[in-house]
Amino acid sequence: MTAARTYTGTPGNLAFLARRLKKGEIVAVPTETVYGLAGDATSARACMRIFKAKGRPTDDPLIVHIASLKDLERVAVPNPGALLLARAFWPGPLTLVLPKTGAVPDLATAGLPSVAVRMPSHPLFRKLIRLAGVPLAAPSANPFGYVSPTSAAHVAKHLGRRIRYILDGGSSSIGLESTIVDMRNPRRPVLLRPGAVTKDEIERVLGVRVARRRKSPEGASVAPGQMARHYSPRTPVRLHASLTFTEARHGSSSAAWLFVGKPAALGPIPANVYWLDPLGDLRRAARRLFSVLRELDEGKFSAIHVERPSGKGIAEALLDRLVRAASR
Ligand code: AMP
Ligand code: MG
Repeated sequence: MTAARTYTGTPGNLAFLARRLKKGEIVAVPTETVYGLAGDATSARACMRIFKAKGRPTDDPLIVHIASLKDLERVAVPNPGALLLARAFWPGPLTLVLPKTGAVPDLATAGLPSVAVRMPSHPLFRKLIRLAGVPLAAPSANPFGYVSPTSAAHVAKHLGRRIRYILDGGSSSIGLESTIVDMRNPRRPVLLRPGAVTKDEIERVLGVRVARRRKSPEGASVAPGQMARHYSPRTPVRLHASLTFTEARHGSSSAAWLFVGKPAALGPIPANVYWLDPLGDLRRAARRLFSVLRELDEGKFSAIHVERPSGKGIAEALLDRLVRAASR
């Protein structure tokens, strides 16, 4: 296949890409979380193309994206709790798991009777969903298991020879995949994946406790597609409960040392010491995490040593991605 072409979000380009989607082709799209690889969620053929291009196992279900609340009933069977969350957080980085309708092929949900649905806020992606006139299934636009892409250039780098169309909508403003909450039983919501919408925020809207996903004794997940090794650079990642600048300075000079905030140092900071945000702001750190991991992965380091982020809320989402990146 020839190399993918990258399109800007002009009305003509959006109309063209929407026609490709209607024909069952797949298009990499910008979202506020990470870049997605989108196809018609109601077409098993389009969904199969997504799995193939990513090398994603078909037992890992896709998230279905809609552009308006009235499209929710097309793909899922909502309940009052789910609608409360949709009204509070959509469009935005929250995915709801609900019973599915017959419009969604079994392939999209890996044979599950439930479907994961989200209304994204990125204006170009929303326009594209509207123009295509169908809900769009879209997992992250990267080869399965690698660090998620947060720019069109990231997509082109690793999927550029496996897909034809990339829509460029700038860098993802959140930079981490969506929060996923299982709302099949609205009295017992379960957090399946932490993200920018936090457990506390969800509990405040619902007025009930949100359980965390249970893990099996081996640490393997009970939810499909939640295998630990995910989001991994090729370079080994080591997560440290506490990491000091002194340790980094005296540690291996062939390794990269990554801090959440800029470490306090009296002298000059060595070139192999990095930080996600100068002030340690966790939302800004999350936005940069995947692009920094990609950059360090290309830096030929022997290892990437990372300071463990602490705290609740978005820190949990950052930690979740780092734990996965560190698991072999
Ligand atoms: P992503 O890899 O960002 O596309 O997110 C897809 C993830 O959402 C999957 O790996 C599952 O963990 C989760 N997911 C999707 N559909 C379902 C579902 N029906 N039930 C439970 N989890 C789901
Ligand atoms: Mg992914």
